[in-house]
Amino acid sequence: MPLRALFLVVFTLIAGVLQLSFPVLAQPDATDPSAVVWDGTLRRIRAPILMYHYVSELPVGADAVRRELTVSPSQFREHLDVLFYEGYTPISLSTLHRALNLGTQLPAKPVVLTFDDGYIDHYVHVFAALQEYGFEATFFVPTAFIDEGRPGHLTWEQIQTMSAAGMSMEPHTKTHRELAGVSYDVLVYEALGSIESLAHYTGVTPRMFSYPVGRYDDFTLSVFASMPILRAVTTERGMLHTTDNRLEVMRMRVPGGASGATIRAILTGS
Ligand SMILES: [Zn+2]
Repeated sequence: MPLRALFLVVFTLIAGVLQLSFPVLAQPDATDPSAVVWDGTLRRIRAPILMYHYVSELPVGADAVRRELTVSPSQFREHLDVLFYEGYTPISLSTLHRALNLGTQLPAKPVVLTFDDGYIDHYVHVFAALQEYGFEATFFVPTAFIDEGRPGHLTWEQIQTMSAAGMSMEPHTKTHRELAGVSYDVLVYEALGSIESLAHYTGVTPRMFSYPVGRYDDFTLSVFASMPILRAVTTERGMLHTTDNRLEVMRMRVPGGASGATIRAILTGS
């Protein structure tokens, strides 16, 4: 039996034991990413997945780390202008996943916009700008930060509003704990816990994931392979995605203070 077929069988058995409502190779529902597993054809798609963190003005005394993780709201609009006028179409990570696993059609120049860490900027600056351009994006949220009302972060009400407007609100663990060298219990708590919180508040069960600080190990991957997580993004650089790299999806880091020209260079891989 080929390895991938074996994987599907094992996956199905595990899903059955865990009584997950996770149809495997059922008739795919184009609107429900959880219904997507794989039709048996390996595919590769080249598409930039941009990785953003803060979209705000720099606070006074910002250190080097903060500066490297921040683009200003006006710089972000320059990026959207580049995407718009050069014919790129932002899609969600779920849409890219469906194309890789089922061969669904993508626009000519697809790009995935991702925003990590659940900052308030993502509602105040990013969401408003995206709506103006008719763009969608994927947001990775550490859900315990939202539960505790941590300053500078989104609220559940804002997350509901963004989800209802078509944004993909996906998990980034509960507490932003790094997932290398941790126990099975920690992985389940951080991954399934954050999935459940988002499903509860938005009514949409998320199936994507982002590893905090890009950290994970072989044990993380083996546990995640049995979880209802369809695709997980890292902080490694790359834009070639394949059907079988689903738990190690590479992204393109947007450097601090990036101009429109920088984004143009990233998109074209130059
Ligand atoms: Zn993070």
